[in-house]
Amino acid sequence: MPTINENFLKLEKNYLFINIAKKVNAFTAAHPDADIIRMGIGDVTQPIAKCVVEAMKKGADEMGVKETFKGYEDSGTGYDFLKEAVAGYYKSFGVDIPADDIRINDGAKSDCGNIVDIFGNDNVVLITDPAYPVYVDTNLMSGRTVIYADSNEENSFAAMPDENVKCDLIYLCSPNNPTGSVYTKDQLKVWIDYAKKNNAVIIYDSAYEAFITEENVPRSIFAVEGAKECAIEMCSLSKTAGFTGMRCGYTVIPHELTVKASDGSEVSVSQIWGRREGSKFNGVSYPVQCAAAAVFSEEGMKQTRANIEYYQQNARVIAAALDEIGIKYTGGKNSPYIWLKCPNDMGSWEFFDLLLEKANVVGTPGAGFGKNGEGWFRLTAFGDKDRTVEAMERIKKLLK
Ligand code: PLP
Repeated sequence: MPTINENFLKLEKNYLFINIAKKVNAFTAAHPDADIIRMGIGDVTQPIAKCVVEAMKKGADEMGVKETFKGYEDSGTGYDFLKEAVAGYYKSFGVDIPADDIRINDGAKSDCGNIVDIFGNDNVVLITDPAYPVYVDTNLMSGRTVIYADSNEENSFAAMPDENVKCDLIYLCSPNNPTGSVYTKDQLKVWIDYAKKNNAVIIYDSAYEAFITEENVPRSIFAVEGAKECAIEMCSLSKTAGFTGMRCGYTVIPHELTVKASDGSEVSVSQIWGRREGSKFNGVSYPVQCAAAAVFSEEGMKQTRANIEYYQQNARVIAAALDEIGIKYTGGKNSPYIWLKCPNDMGSWEFFDLLLEKANVVGTPGAGFGKNGEGWFRLTAFGDKDRTVEAMERIKKLLK
């Protein structure tokens, strides 16, 4: 008789966004005429840049011609043309990453979840709270001990390490989902020094790096000295170039990164990850990789930047409205997320219900991202421009 992995029974019954969808569906069923504006789920809404779509079509056409047809990709880690393009992108903001240290995948969520395969189940995992749920869920699924570093109002939702706490794996996300907060170069250096002192590995999620506007906020942890000996970075084209429905991302595992095995030998993390991928992953489709490479072309960058600027303008609209009614928030400046303090000491779900019922606006309750999210609420700037303006007018009217 099969038994179930009972670690799954320790998880929240539903993924956060399923609970939100249930509430919204019940409300819509009861109020079929309500004009609901969705600022909850962090999905993009702008179409993919034209030159990127053209590159994908060309790739698809090549698949229909004998001479250019592609079957399995040899390595399963991505075509060289795309890895070179990603390496060039890193170079454009001053970070040197050899193409061989880059692995192409079907989005950051997969690798953020799958990376746990290669680390021991006895590892203690430190996760900043609140956090993107994948980090916590996947470690609980494999039975690891998870401890938390509190990101809260006092530290502007950018938790720093506690020297008295020992851990083996550390998850950091900057710009952060859900709080929109960021780590400066100096703060990341503190995390790197702490990781090295503890012989820990940092798993760094930079999925929102394209939204960074401030000079002292690095686009990659590898912009900080010492990171290559202690960090893995995951990034994605989902938010950079509207690829949430295309599925393509990249993980950087520096060749310098090693972990000690129980016999005392130094094991290359890149080699072990490659072994895992060899058994469990067959790569990303060729047309999608062609599209991804086009994102990094001059024209691709220009066209995708226009979409990012569109969302950044929405973020300014949200921030200005909150300033007007005196609501405290983080994010928005280097991030598409605005993380606001629920008014009148309301709980996150209480505020969710109020906004849904009285303004017909859907956001995400902060409590769904961890205990420090209680009393806070996430709005996204990924919506339509006019609908964002309308939503903020409704919120101002409700809360003024
Ligand atoms: N990392 C963070 C912090 C995210 O917010 C998301 C998606 O919302 C992802 C990773 C996953 O992105 P992808 O679409 O590349 O799987």
